[in-house]
Amino acid sequence: LENKLNDENLTFSDIDMVFLTHYHFDHAFLASQFSNAKILDGSTIYDKDLEIDNSDKIPSTDIEILLTPGHAKEHSSLLVKEENKLTIVAGDVFGWTREEEQKVDNLNELISREDPYALDMEELKASRRKLLEIADIIVPGHGKVFSNLHKKK
Ligand SMILES: [Zn+2]
Repeated sequence: LENKLNDENLTFSDIDMVFLTHYHFDHAFLASQFSNAKILDGSTIYDKDLEIDNSDKIPSTDIEILLTPGHAKEHSSLLVKEENKLTIVAGDVFGWTREEEQKVDNLNELISREDPYALDMEELKASRRKLLEIADIIVPGHGKVFSNLHKKK
């Protein structure tokens, strides 16, 4: 993560907001490295000792927060609108290991893919359906960014 920031000429201390899709170790462990950042999740902004309710948008942006439970109870995703295109930062609603082939053409397979870490598989499927109805581009928690072929016209 530090190297990726450095590639953009940034350091941890340059970042002022960090959004956590959920609290699994591999997604949240480094949050404390962002010494100058507010930490946000699907319900709260953590600003040092303050906890402020928030569940609508990332403050001062048009980026919407959408609850997408299933993989984890608190899981939420980000909706980024640009012109006529909706990109969804979907966290672990979608994910593939390095060894897996990332197949995205079959809607039922995409919705029903097993997730060994899911807390509630039925809830996860409902969240996947919801995102696949509206997204143009999906950024999964693990795997490559992909175009959604299944958006409702
Ligand atoms: Zn996870």
